[in-house]
Amino acid sequence: MTSVEADAPPAKAEPGQRGGPLLATVRQALATAGADQAVIAEAVQAVASGQVYQAATVSVKEQNSHAVRPFFDCLDLVINHIVTGAPLTAAREAAEALATTPPGQGGHHPWCHVDRCKPHRFEDGAVLTEHHGLALATELTDGYEALRLRAELGSDENLIDDHASVFIWAGNNDGLSFDQDNLGRAIDSLDTFLDGLRHLHRVMGQPRAPKTEEQA
Ligand SMILES: [Zn+2]
Repeated sequence: MTSVEADAPPAKAEPGQRGGPLLATVRQALATAGADQAVIAEAVQAVASGQVYQAATVSVKEQNSHAVRPFFDCLDLVINHIVTGAPLTAAREAAEALATTPPGQGGHHPWCHVDRCKPHRFEDGAVLTEHHGLALATELTDGYEALRLRAELGSDENLIDDHASVFIWAGNNDGLSFDQDNLGRAIDSLDTFLDGLRHLHRVMGQPRAPKTEEQA
């Protein structure tokens, strides 16, 4: 025994109606339920907006676009909240974690990994500390050789220029020291470079077109 008889046939989009079967189903179901035209139009508009959002968020995630991905991740949580009633606790906690910085231990930055900070005691009794924060490392490898990239946040009380810096090393080259403004510019450059790499990644599978008769 099947339930074929009980299933309503899928709605088909009428000629001139855009949005495919889902919007046709929404129109048909609401009309059958006796909803007025204004409600039907509003519901169709909302579903169509959702379809646009779904296409956009899939594209953003496929491209892993750093600049807008957190925004779309946040929208996903809000949409889930509207659809399922799931609390927005995760989104709120993430926002609060970003907004509140825990105080640093005495004499240290909030970002210090205090066990790695190195105090240097001088003959006059002064203690000047080299502070170390999060260290990042990644390797780009073609399967044979690797280019190693490293970055680390730090500051040094023994330097006249006492502000924090991020040091970046590529391979075995001497590292460069970036202040906050320069690091912002470096991140923008890397973002542009990464967007370019993503483009190359997308198109690199395209084969050559067959040669024309003159070329053959
Ligand atoms: Zn420290």
